[in-house]
Amino acid sequence: MKSFAAVERYFNQAADRLGLDPAIRELMMIPYREIQVQVPVEMDDGTVRPFVGYRVQHNNARGPMKGGLRFHPQVDLDEVRSLAALMTWKCAVVNIPFGGAKGGIAVDPRHLSTKEKERLTRKFVDGIHEVIGPDTDIPAPDMGTNAEVMAWFMNHYARYHGFSPACITGKPVEMYGSPGREEATGRGVGIFTLKLLSRLGRLPSQTTVAIQGFGNVGTHTAEFLRAADCKLVAVSDVTGAYYAPAGLNVRELESHIIKHGSLSGFPKAEHITNEDLLTLEVDVLIPAAIGGVLTEENAGKVKASIIIEAANEPIRPEADDLFEERGILVLPDLLANAGGVTVSYFEWVQNRQIFQWAHNRVRQELDRVLDQAFETIWNRSKDENISLRQACYLVAIERVARAMHLGGIV
Ligand code: GLU
Repeated sequence: MKSFAAVERYFNQAADRLGLDPAIRELMMIPYREIQVQVPVEMDDGTVRPFVGYRVQHNNARGPMKGGLRFHPQVDLDEVRSLAALMTWKCAVVNIPFGGAKGGIAVDPRHLSTKEKERLTRKFVDGIHEVIGPDTDIPAPDMGTNAEVMAWFMNHYARYHGFSPACITGKPVEMYGSPGREEATGRGVGIFTLKLLSRLGRLPSQTTVAIQGFGNVGTHTAEFLRAADCKLVAVSDVTGAYYAPAGLNVRELESHIIKHGSLSGFPKAEHITNEDLLTLEVDVLIPAAIGGVLTEENAGKVKASIIIEAANEPIRPEADDLFEERGILVLPDLLANAGGVTVSYFEWVQNRQIFQWAHNRVRQELDRVLDQAFETIWNRSKDENISLRQACYLVAIERVARAMHLGGIV
């Protein structure tokens, strides 16, 4: 099943349950606007390579549209479209005043020099600057992009529209970024994991965790859960997975990456494959890398009893059905990784006031928002005896539908 079809399926289940008005239902599945642009980039050797960039703006009933910008070879219109819709539901689940969007360029950023990446970013801004902005659509980091890319983006946007730091979030802290934005997604994943464990009456100190992906989200999740006393037994990156049943030391993993550029050769663990990591004997499995890693083929072999979707769409719908049948509890991406966009919202608020919050304040506000969202979704799931994912869709669709109604859209 393609990406957008998967989101559509979850959406349809929830819309049926809600008895959603047919016009609203149809409108919610048609993206507000889709843009595809050519991005010709001059490479360091003087040749020009044509890339293709996308921005899909899904729904703006609740506010300006919000969502990351992805540099990844697998990016295509279908994927960006589904991720844009996910952002609409995600912002609604945590109740921040944004709609959803997503952007991407089909490129492997590891094969670009820093200068080439900068030119790629600036060319993309050339292509889309007219349809984005602080009150319209606000990009942010996603796979393959980071604070440095956001700073180039802001700088280039300013050439067309003047000083406007709120045009993008996830910027460097010293360049109108927010304290705590970089850690926010992983921190949120960690917070939710602990909340779930507590609801299930389990102790963090007796909980083993495997994290697939050791990028920004994976590392911050690992740090948070280690500090909470969970036992991290496996992590992975593109070079494979590293497994130590007695527990891994997060600091040692991080310093290995700083020294060697990847986890390759990490000495204090058994080297296994990324696929092996997914089926390890652990309590909590956290896919924090790419989409579609848990499929019909491997879902039956998963031994974890809790899966936290730190990445977007790591579970294919067929696998999701199997997990539900097998009683494996899934915390869906819509909630699990929403800490990132929540602090993006705080960054946008700070930018509009040209005022920077203290790190503590960001953390406090984040905790408050995530706490409320968790309570709402958990209770809804219990009250109606449905999965946490379906509860997220119900709550999100109701909120977006209400905004469409109040705004007079339908
Ligand atoms: N790319 C992140 C996500 O998928 C963050 C989006 C944002 O901060 O706007 O939620």
